[in-house]
Amino acid sequence: MNGDLIAVLNPATEEVVTQIRLADLADTDRAIARAEAAYAGWRTVAPADRAALLRAFAAAVDADLENLARLEVAGAGHTIGNARWEAGNVRDVLEYYSAAPERNFGRQIPVAGGINVTFQESLGVVGIIVPWNFPMPIAGWGFAPALAAGNTVVLKPAELTPLTAIRLGELALEAGIPEGVFQVLPGKGSVVGNRFVTHPAVRKVVFTGSTAVGTRIMAGCAEQVKAVTLELGGKSANIIFDDADLELAAAAAPGGAFDNAGQDCCARSRILVQRGAYERFMELLEPAVREFSVGDPLDENTAMGPLISRSQWETVSSFVPDDTEVAFRGSAPSGPGHWFAPTVLTPGIHSRAWREEIFGPVVSVVPFSDEAEAIALANDSDYGLSGSIWSRDIGRALRTARGVESGNLSVNSHSSVRYSTPFGGFKKSGLGRELGPDALDAFTETKNVFIAL
Ligand code: NAD
Repeated sequence: MNGDLIAVLNPATEEVVTQIRLADLADTDRAIARAEAAYAGWRTVAPADRAALLRAFAAAVDADLENLARLEVAGAGHTIGNARWEAGNVRDVLEYYSAAPERNFGRQIPVAGGINVTFQESLGVVGIIVPWNFPMPIAGWGFAPALAAGNTVVLKPAELTPLTAIRLGELALEAGIPEGVFQVLPGKGSVVGNRFVTHPAVRKVVFTGSTAVGTRIMAGCAEQVKAVTLELGGKSANIIFDDADLELAAAAAPGGAFDNAGQDCCARSRILVQRGAYERFMELLEPAVREFSVGDPLDENTAMGPLISRSQWETVSSFVPDDTEVAFRGSAPSGPGHWFAPTVLTPGIHSRAWREEIFGPVVSVVPFSDEAEAIALANDSDYGLSGSIWSRDIGRALRTARGVESGNLSVNSHSSVRYSTPFGGFKKSGLGRELGPDALDAFTETKNVFIAL
């Protein structure tokens, strides 16, 4: 590669981990040409053989799990527990979609005068653009079903966090995935990512990142009527009714908002509490926030590490200026590293903190009166990615879940991501779904063939 060198910094120490050479435009065009050349071979690999190669790739990820996790701790500041889960998620997603090549069914549709069958055909070269907050899972959610469907993949990790994606590219080759089928291109969004949008041989772009960039990518893809999946920002609501198990809801709220230092598109960053439970919930939330342990990401007991970069630290800080009334705060280390203590605000519903995605460990709490107001407040957002509902009345919880305009909801839990269930957003949180049983639909075209008898 010919492009500039970029230093990967450890967010917990601000020390240089390593330097990476960025791909430039010519490198990108060469990689796309290799992917195009490899496509003819890959799409015709027998389904059972493609499945076996994906299982070998999953096994290689599993064998390298601790190394991948430690790379993510060093290069992205993730806690070691989270990083191990994330590497394991790549393995699991590969295993899940390794069953797909042999089940990529079409249909036989009754028609007059002949036989009508459909085929799910692969697209060609798929370009995947990944953000810095979950470098491994987000990459895997794109490349595993894309490869299973018979496409070749060029993948661009975020500038700040290329290390695990590069390693996954090496593991794919070691596992026997043919050259050119899965290539990782560290580089700038404006160069490599944009080339995925403009290059006519790239038939689909999968983008995860900010709504601002996603909007531009969709507009760019429109020029070539190029397929696009968008996974964008969020400002999800955690709705707590007064009949909920308040101890459980308060104990879980910090994890729902501060996991990955709040740099999570699914962060439950707006807590809505029914008035009758508000005071008690806040009493329970305060110790839970103060005890949320922030520190060395390699310490197994750490719940939260640093923010990714100084620039992200400045963005998050801008939501909590010095004169902000803070309800309460946890603690964070001082010294080097982009540390930000978990922070709880009780702002008005017109404030920036309530309305905008902060992407840091800052959560806002607002009271509500009844079910209708809870749903209205939750939906008063441009976003609609995830959310939680806490209540012992399952009818009420389910009515609320149906009322909230959001792609991934959980009741009495903050869990919203499983490789076997669909994931994606309403409104400005995105377009299309990843994961789950139907993910291959996003990486195939339906072809209809009629055979006259
Ligand atoms: P970002 O939009 O700045 O960057 C995301 C990726 O796009 C990076 O790889 C970047 O290099 C690339 N990029 C930037 N400009 C580009 C361009 N003009 N053309 C092509 N590619 C370009 O986002 P970020 O700051 O890295 O990530 C944070 C955002 O991602 C948050 O808004 C978060 O909510 C969102 N996110 C969403 C999900 C989801 O699944 N919905 C998951 C994780 C993160």
